Amino acid sequence: MVRDPGLIRRSFGLQKEIEPTLQSQYHSELIEAIKRNEYHIVFGEYEVFLAREFGFCYGVDRAVNLAYETRRQFPNRRIIITHEIIHNPRVNQNLKDMGVEFMTGAAPDDSRWDAVGANDVVLLPAFGASAELTERLKATGATIVDTTCGSVMNVWRRVQTYQREGYTAIIHGKHSHEETIATKSRAGKYIVVLDMRQVDMLCDYIEGRGGREAFLREFEERCSPGFDPDADLKKVGIANQTTMLSSESLAIAGRVQQSIEHRYGSAEGHFRRFDTICSATQDRQDAMQEMLKRDLDLMLVVGGFNSSNTAHLLEIALQSCPAYHIYDATCIESLTRIQHSPLNSKQAAHTEDWFPSGARKIGFTAGASTPNSITGNCIKRTLELLGVTPIESAHLR
Ligand code: SF4
Repeated sequence: MVRDPGLIRRSFGLQKEIEPTLQSQYHSELIEAIKRNEYHIVFGEYEVFLAREFGFCYGVDRAVNLAYETRRQFPNRRIIITHEIIHNPRVNQNLKDMGVEFMTGAAPDDSRWDAVGANDVVLLPAFGASAELTERLKATGATIVDTTCGSVMNVWRRVQTYQREGYTAIIHGKHSHEETIATKSRAGKYIVVLDMRQVDMLCDYIEGRGGREAFLREFEERCSPGFDPDADLKKVGIANQTTMLSSESLAIAGRVQQSIEHRYGSAEGHFRRFDTICSATQDRQDAMQEMLKRDLDLMLVVGGFNSSNTAHLLEIALQSCPAYHIYDATCIESLTRIQHSPLNSKQAAHTEDWFPSGARKIGFTAGASTPNSITGNCIKRTLELLGVTPIESAHLR
């Protein structure tokens, strides 16, 4: 079972009390104005387009609210969070400013957990915590407030079902991403695949073509302890990290199914699939595809550099126009220099002459963990550099 009676998952009923703080930190008048104007607004010679779905998703909204309520509910108790609450540096900093202590990256056997006691409050983030860590924290007697998104728990249920029915979970995701760490800790036998290259290797093995040593080397850190590809790939079930590119996850499921059919003549009894991309991720990817039909000259995608769903929005945007993944307005240093996170790179980069000459149609979207205040500031910053002051524009009165 995923639901755990030892964890608090409900609101403390303090929404009214925290609302003014949330409004002042995360609301944007400019964003609201553009939304009221059908997500498109003209500023002088420039057109700004906003994706119809962007920014905070239901899971992030709930996690942030619950974290703020927790601070309010326990004003005098030490509050610790096991990892970033969401992948947004501003939101995490705001929680630090409220006295929340971050234990980012601490494994379940980290000795720092020894200092957690019954008088402490522990927050579990939106993408969850591993089963081992959750058990260890429960044993401390601390009050545990669980902000794990329901869509993530849905993936846990799926892999637990696979385990019960004797299937190995093939998880499409980033093996070191917190959500995937939490998912695989509940999966029994699993293997995590990142991309089609790894899936091809997996499928070759299923079809009897791959070498065992090379396979184990490739997936050394990506499969359950003692994984035996000869025994553990006979019955497989697909799941995915909720924020992956949905088209890729679908293609991966199709490719594995083909291999299983090739090997066993039928998928029956050997293959299960279930799309666990969350609806918020899907909606943001669909909205991005829709917006790209407007022949944009440039696209700015706003989100934390470690945000997986934001990186996938960039990937979609780059299919149609120049696009940059930035985390806030300070990344837009000038019209000739931008700091950004290039696709498939772990390092932030600076690019010169990034603003396309003659660009007039500029699109904006934001990952599921980006507050509107940050996206609004990115729009303002861009327009100010272009000589437009949006707040004073008649369009916004
Ligand atoms: S992106 Fe999806 S899974 Fe992640 S918090 Fe938002 S709704 Fe939940």
